[in-house]
Amino acid sequence: MASVKLTKVEKAFGAVKVLHGIDLQIEEGEFIVFVGPSGCGKSTLLRLIAGLEDITGGTLEIDGRTVNDKSPKERGIAMVFQSYALYPHMTVYENMAFGLKLDKGTGKDEREARIREAARILQIEDYLDRLPKALSGGQRQRVAIGRAITRKPKVFLFDEPLSNLDAALRVQTRIEIAGLHEKMSDTTMIYVTHDQVEAMTLADRIVVLNKGRVEQVGSPIDLYERPDNLFVARFIGSPA
Ligand code: ADP
Ligand code: MG
Repeated sequence: MASVKLTKVEKAFGAVKVLHGIDLQIEEGEFIVFVGPSGCGKSTLLRLIAGLEDITGGTLEIDGRTVNDKSPKERGIAMVFQSYALYPHMTVYENMAFGLKLDKGTGKDEREARIREAARILQIEDYLDRLPKALSGGQRQRVAIGRAITRKPKVFLFDEPLSNLDAALRVQTRIEIAGLHEKMSDTTMIYVTHDQVEAMTLADRIVVLNKGRVEQVGSPIDLYERPDNLFVARFIGSPA
């Protein structure tokens, strides 16, 4: 059973169609990366999976269950955005606890245990009492990732989480995300980027999107060595 299955998924904003019949099966624990040029529909596809946008055609299943009409909370997913949207008036600890309080069935002790565990994994244990303004960009993004981890999502979505970081931090945080994937081996990760290097280094499989359509799906090495067409070859940077 696929973790996430898309069948002929479409999205239109009014009369403008931006996703045209996407078919895709993502297995449990897989690290999938959506790549493609700006405006090709990567964020829209991720937001559809998250339930932040309505699907206008086709079927979306998570764990074998059709979730077209399910709310984000009912889908068992967590999402990390490009801009680390932390609450400025709450400490790191409070930021991480806040989302958890919204989930039913986590008591105070359970919340604390999950927050400590996430903080340990991301090495932010020393900043739990600080306000976001007292953190660097990289530290804030780690808190945003930590906040998502505490919710123990079945599916973890990232939309260009590194694009606001400087080059050195981007490499470091990318390595941390790869480490996270190893530690959370049952968690399906779907990651959006327009950066080929990120895609090649993180992905089990890459989905190349172009103008709302899938051009090719394959492992990094497959796409590099056997691109289906010139668009994929150029985008991935294969030898001509
Ligand atoms: P990407 O993340 O690949 O850069 P997006 O998914 O953000 O691309 O956008 C895909 C297309 O959908 C773009 O043409 C964009 O202008 C359009 N689009 C995205 N969100 C909306 C919206 N809320 N209303 C209308 N058009 C939108
Ligand atoms: Mg985007």
